[in-house]
Amino acid sequence: MFNKNLALNEAKTRSSFYMYEQAQILENIEKLKTAFPKVGFLYSLKCNPNPKVLDTIFAEGIGGDAASLAEVMMSIERNVPMKEIQYSAPAKSMSDIENAIKVSTINADSVSEVERIAEIAAKNEMVAEIGVRINPNFTFNGEGIVSSKFGVDQDVFFEMLPIWAKMPNIKIVGIHVHSKSQELDYMKIYSYYERMFKLAMATQTALGYDLEFMNMGSGIGVNYAENDAAVDVATLGEKLMDLMAAYETMLPSMKVYIETGRYLVCKAGTYVTTVLDKKVSAGKTYVLLANTLNGFIRPSITRLVATYTDEPKVNSEPLFTSLDAFTYLPLVETAETETVNLVGNLCTAIDIIAANINVPVLNVGDALAINNAGAYAAVLSPMQFSTQVKPAELFISVDGEVFEY
Ligand SMILES: *Cc1c(COP(=O)(O)O)cnc(C)c1O
Repeated sequence: MFNKNLALNEAKTRSSFYMYEQAQILENIEKLKTAFPKVGFLYSLKCNPNPKVLDTIFAEGIGGDAASLAEVMMSIERNVPMKEIQYSAPAKSMSDIENAIKVSTINADSVSEVERIAEIAAKNEMVAEIGVRINPNFTFNGEGIVSSKFGVDQDVFFEMLPIWAKMPNIKIVGIHVHSKSQELDYMKIYSYYERMFKLAMATQTALGYDLEFMNMGSGIGVNYAENDAAVDVATLGEKLMDLMAAYETMLPSMKVYIETGRYLVCKAGTYVTTVLDKKVSAGKTYVLLANTLNGFIRPSITRLVATYTDEPKVNSEPLFTSLDAFTYLPLVETAETETVNLVGNLCTAIDIIAANINVPVLNVGDALAINNAGAYAAVLSPMQFSTQVKPAELFISVDGEVFEY
C-alpha cells in the first residue's frame, strides 16, 4: 500500500520522514479479528504510540497493553475501558502504581510489587483486582524454566497464592505471560497456548474461584524478510478456538487476551530518507543519507550485527530481528545500478545501513524508502545524539488525507 508518489512529493521538502498507512493497519486488525473471533486483543503501545495510530486501533475495540503509566493514560484518553487496559512493566514505581491502580488492570511483576499494590490499595480503601505476570515452567520451545527479570517464577507464584489470598486489599483475577516476540511458526505458538491453558486451569484450582482473564502475551510475528512466510493466523486461530471450546466449561469466566504490537503496524510503516551527499573514497562509493542510525536505528543495528556474526544467538528484540529484515528501495526511475555503501550523516563510522549493495543509481536529492518501519522504529530513534531534525511522522488516512505528528 506504500504510496510512492506521495513519498516523492514529501521528499522534496523533508530530508527524512515516516509514513503510516491507516488502510494497512485496518486490514491487519481485520485479519486478526476474523481469525480469532472470541479473543480480546491488546495493542502494545510501546511499538508505535503515534496519536493517529492509537486513534485507529482503539476505535476498532482493541484494548491497551501499556508498558508505562504514560501509555495507560494514552489509552484512557481514547476511552479504552479499565478492564481492557493492562499495565505490565518489569518495574513500577510507587507513584506509577498509585496513579494506575484505579484506572487500569495492573499485572504485578514481582512478589514485592504485589505487596506494594496491596499497601496502596489499603491506603485507598479498595480491593485492587490484579493480574500477575508469571515466568512459567515452559517456553515456546518446550518444558523448562528460563531465568528472567520478568514476572514471578511459576513455582513461587503457586507458593504465594495462599498468602496473597489472605490479603484483604488485593484479588488475583488474572494471569499474564509474555514469553517471546516475533515467532513465525504457528505450531510453536499453538503449543505455547496449550501450556497456557493448563497453567490457567492450575491457577484457578489453586485460587478456588473463577479466573477472569488469561493474557497470553504476544508471539505472533511479522514476515520481515522477503523469504519469510507470514504466520498462518487463520489456522492458528482455528486451533485456538477449538482449545477454548474444550476448556469453556472448566474456565467459564475467563476472557482470553493476546497482546500484539508489531503485527498491527510494522508493515503499515515506511521510512523515507534522502541523499544529502555522495562521494568516492579508495574505490568505494558512499551515498550519504539523512537520519539513518538516528532516525531509524534498526537497519544500522542489522549491519552492525552482520559485521560480528552470521547467526546471532541472543534474542535482541526489538532492536534486532534478522540480517535480512529490511529492503532498500531507491525511489528513482533509472534502470542503471551501481554498488555503493548506504551511510548516514552522523559523526560516527557505525552509521551505515548497507555495505557493497547493488542498487539503482542514487544522486543528491533522491529518496530511498525502507520497509517494515511501522513498529519499533520512530520510538527507538536516538535523536538526542548530535541534535539533528527529527523525522516527521506522516499518517495517511483511508481516504488519503495526510496528518503530521
Ligand atoms: C513489547 C511487548 C509486546 C509486543 O510484542 P510484539 O512482538 O510487538 O507483538 C507484548 N507484550 C509485552 C508484555 C511486551 O512487552
